[in-house]
Amino acid sequence: MTVPFVQKALHIDLETGDHDIEHISASEGVIGPVDFGWREFKKDKNVFTFGEGKLASSTIPGSRRLVFCAYSDQWEGFYISSMGGAAHKFQHVGVSYVSLRGRAERPSVLLLNNRGEAPEARIVPLEDYRNIWAGYENEAGEKLIGIYAMQQALLDMFGGEYDPNRVRIVTVGPSAEMTVEGVIGSNTIKKGVMQAVVDWAGRGGLGSRLLRHHNILAIMFGGEWKDAFAPKTKELNHYFEEHYGDKMTKVDMAMTKKYHYDPKLETGGTFGANYTNLKDKILTFNYRSAKRTKTERIRQHTDFIVRHYLKQFNEETIKPKRFDHCGEPCSVACKKLFGKYKKDYEPYHALGPQCGVFDQRAAELLNDHADAMGFDAIQIGGTLAWIMECVADGLMDPDKYGFPPASELKFSHFTDDVEEFDLVEDSMRNARYAMKVIDAILSDSRAEIFRDGLRAAAENINSSACFNRAVYLAHGEKGCMVPNQYWVPGMGSPMPLMGKYYVYYGSDYMPPDDLGRKNV
Ligand code: SF4
Repeated sequence: MTVPFVQKALHIDLETGDHDIEHISASEGVIGPVDFGWREFKKDKNVFTFGEGKLASSTIPGSRRLVFCAYSDQWEGFYISSMGGAAHKFQHVGVSYVSLRGRAERPSVLLLNNRGEAPEARIVPLEDYRNIWAGYENEAGEKLIGIYAMQQALLDMFGGEYDPNRVRIVTVGPSAEMTVEGVIGSNTIKKGVMQAVVDWAGRGGLGSRLLRHHNILAIMFGGEWKDAFAPKTKELNHYFEEHYGDKMTKVDMAMTKKYHYDPKLETGGTFGANYTNLKDKILTFNYRSAKRTKTERIRQHTDFIVRHYLKQFNEETIKPKRFDHCGEPCSVACKKLFGKYKKDYEPYHALGPQCGVFDQRAAELLNDHADAMGFDAIQIGGTLAWIMECVADGLMDPDKYGFPPASELKFSHFTDDVEEFDLVEDSMRNARYAMKVIDAILSDSRAEIFRDGLRAAAENINSSACFNRAVYLAHGEKGCMVPNQYWVPGMGSPMPLMGKYYVYYGSDYMPPDDLGRKNV
């Protein structure tokens, strides 16, 4: 099976709105959105790119990620962040890649479409974006905020220009305007209606980059274009049978058991599988668990997680099979839902046990609020957990920064005792505290010091005791990344691009040289 090598890039000047198409030949050696992003970045450090891989029009699950590349102000370096499923709709624009240069005159929305003739690009100013973020009602009368409100508003404004099944909106929230840690988020859309599944280009603060440097609030895309050479399942099955001994879907399901449902664990998804296996490798109350004995950590895992947090998840989500896919047809359906809440291990851990939250209701409220504001859940989770420890231990005066008093917290020390920590009430107390801190960071000028990120705050707060409790990976002068929430050496290694899985993340310890080699 061979297909012609066709790659097109749409280059957009945001200042003038001018755009042109580049045909990229095979001889240029660009074979995907990271190659393209890196090529453009080497020419111009201020460029922002996104695009799809060569297999995006195929039926191979996982091949329709939309990959964003740009300089990350949060990490202080070139960064890559990708969003599951979004290229399933982006492919209908009829280009593989997009580059954005310059800055729109006013905060704007970029509309990409293809009505059968050629890719179109339009920049539309959106003056009242802050009002939309503050609250926008959908047809059912439900008030949406932040990134959810923005997507609904744009669907109402421009949805009529697109096929309702071939459209998607990627957008930023208030955190992109106020901090360097804003994500790009996007809900799936079916028949023109926003769904509960939301995907993120979460790490590296590329949402902040998009808004603060390019004045772009959202990108809406879709169209009529179809790849005439899209590889079909029948053709792909032949390849999979030859190399993996079975049909594509069967190979996919076998390799991704953990993400769908693992009968041995009797659970599924990253939340179910990771929390079942975590045991003494649990990180809670701003990493304070790491200093406790193995016995204490195992007791906390058993009583706080297995018997409550995980149990709720298994009963509410796994047993009734509340599963969905990320936006591309995929039988793995790794997205695990309860109502409008999508549950994944890392966000529900950083904005969960790390913040002293061990109950689904409390974690849902906190995650939903951070998501709506457009924060990277891991980054803000690490920051909140640090603030909560410093406030609870009397090292940080909450009043000085517009935070609630320490008495509203239950965070003074690690505990593995359910008699001492009420898993429902104390979790809710901590979640509500964390939500108030989020609001202060975004809207109270007293909390301005936290807007440049955890490292900048820890270094500038003038307290070595606070500084010593901040957990982050440093890069460059101010670059900062809250580590992925796995207690393994690779997640703390000094690699050029951290916060992703571009490392070896086995739990075995080895000399730094060997780990570095494995990472590469
Ligand atoms: S549903 Fe999950 S496993 Fe399937 S393609 Fe999307 S992200 Fe990947």
